[in-house]
Amino acid sequence: MARGIVPRQPAKTGRHEGTRVSRSPKTSQKTSGLRPERPGQRPNPTRAKGSKQAAAKSALAGKGYNPLASERIAEILARLDQLYPDATCALSHKSAWELLVATILSAQSTDVNVNRVTPELFRKYPTVADFAALTPEQLEPDVRSTGFFRNKSKSVVGAAKRVVSEFSGEVPEDMDKLLTLPGVARKTANVVLGTWFRKAEGVVVDTHVTRISRRLELTRNTDAPKIEQDLMKVIPREKWILFSHQIIWHGRKLCIARRPKCVDCALENICHAGDKTWSTVEVHTSAKV
Ligand code: SF4
Repeated sequence: MARGIVPRQPAKTGRHEGTRVSRSPKTSQKTSGLRPERPGQRPNPTRAKGSKQAAAKSALAGKGYNPLASERIAEILARLDQLYPDATCALSHKSAWELLVATILSAQSTDVNVNRVTPELFRKYPTVADFAALTPEQLEPDVRSTGFFRNKSKSVVGAAKRVVSEFSGEVPEDMDKLLTLPGVARKTANVVLGTWFRKAEGVVVDTHVTRISRRLELTRNTDAPKIEQDLMKVIPREKWILFSHQIIWHGRKLCIARRPKCVDCALENICHAGDKTWSTVEVHTSAKV
């Protein structure tokens, strides 16, 4: 059967034939853990490789499902490694300062949009001192297209002035110091520390990480600081940096906000998200954005 005419299930329930919905993740989860290939579906080595482990997990689930079980976390990480082995930050930058600016500009915008703006911006103002010499109003036209440009201009110029006056023109490699810069909260600090300095001080929690962590039942919280704390408890520290990038890529490519592409997702048979668009396992209505 041609791929295009295989019926899919409605987005709202995430159900298809034979799929059950559990209102509570604590209720039993009698699933095979194995997912039938759709007719005409292309082979997926990741899915095939994970099927035995998923079956083992299903046995585990039958005894009492725990979304935070170390075996389940390890399986999620292994599949992300196969999907996105080289995931990294998509913001163009050549220094810690450029990455800091790009991350501030990326709030409520897309990396693509920011990458359109920053090459010319850094040609015009090559150093931190150049930014520190500006007023926010002078910077506004250059960052206007990224949205919220007045606040972003204030943050960038304020951060530049502080980096110059307090840190000798060098972006600090320290979480507490970074958090003293205007416009810098833990998300931005984690991006700079993890991507540029390779320091795992926390997990980047943006809109993608928030959504997917809830779908995968790694957290039930909705605010970024609590989500980060939850993730730091279950994800091994050596994976914090890569995990953030992998989840962000997954959020862009498959686990998108509206109508995630579950039928093509290698995590499908270990994901019980309540807003799945296709499922071979029980869905948990509480596990969604
Ligand atoms: S199965 Fe669907 S909801 Fe779950 S992680 Fe994959 S794309 Fe996201």
